[in-house]
Amino acid sequence: MSKKIGFIGLGIMGKPMAKNLLEAGYELVVCDIVKAAVDELAKAGAKSAATPKEVAEQTGIILTMLPNSPHVKTVILGEDGVIEGAKRGAIVADMSSIAPLVSREVAQKLAEKGVEMLDAPVSGGEPKAIDGTISVMVGGKKEIFERCYPILKAMAGSVVHTGDIGAGNITKIANQIIVALNIAAVSEALVLASKAGVDPELVYQAIRGGLAGSTVLDAKAPMMMDRNFKPGFRINLHIKDLNNVLETSHGVGVPLPLTAAVMEMMQSLKVDGFEMEDHSSLVKYYEKLAKV
Ligand code: NAD
Repeated sequence: MSKKIGFIGLGIMGKPMAKNLLEAGYELVVCDIVKAAVDELAKAGAKSAATPKEVAEQTGIILTMLPNSPHVKTVILGEDGVIEGAKRGAIVADMSSIAPLVSREVAQKLAEKGVEMLDAPVSGGEPKAIDGTISVMVGGKKEIFERCYPILKAMAGSVVHTGDIGAGNITKIANQIIVALNIAAVSEALVLASKAGVDPELVYQAIRGGLAGSTVLDAKAPMMMDRNFKPGFRINLHIKDLNNVLETSHGVGVPLPLTAAVMEMMQSLKVDGFEMEDHSSLVKYYEKLAKV
């Protein structure tokens, strides 16, 4: 597999992921609509391109790390998009968290041009993107997965193939249900403990080694207690993911009562103006209910 790869989308996650690829010895051609992000990567050794088309013209494998389905469609299928520059046999690995049906639709359009695609969303958040220990869940042909594995592993702690195209994003929405419900549970528990007169910091220290301990508890409880809601993972991105969850669950006939409830909590935070904060600000929803 060529050491020269494209990387489009240098935000909270994409920037450190791209830097890890540079450190692993890959040559990168990068692109983002935010110039400062491109400049930072260029300083770290990447080459920049003006459009996704130009990225694809110069590379055989193109990674994308964008907010949501419409951004992925624009960057891959739109004007000056990847599809206009990609050569037959090229591979697009979209690492954004998007609707599984859109992954399949984009893959179909690329296939008509002889371009392969993986959907390879990630979990772990910014700290793990920086450490190179994110979890990657991948859908697509096994053979294409195996060819891309070393590249994905250079940014990740684990890289697991979960099925055909779309399976990566189905795995990701399962992940997002668990994360959202966990954050709601942590919020509910800490607000209760606090209002009942026990220091939430001591509650956290007491329970984190027991069955209630979790990666979510360790990542999000300290943020709630420190009142540090700098993202991380924004409420508006989690609403986007839960939209993708509910669209998929309605499509296959699976009722998700708890997910629907947390979705409404996040919508309420959005109405209150917190959509750009980290999803740990879900605790504010409970504080409002309990008049803390
Ligand atoms: P972000 O908003 O920080 O970054 C997205 C980047 O895409 C931005 O730099 C933006 O300028 C760029 N972009 C948007 N449209 C573009 C276009 N047309 N051409 C070129 N660049 C364009 O988002 P993020 O937090 O890095 O998340 C990216 C994806 O990863 C999302 O799907 C998110 O759900 C997922 N994710 C995020 C986290 C997290 O903790 N932040 C964790 C796991 C997965």
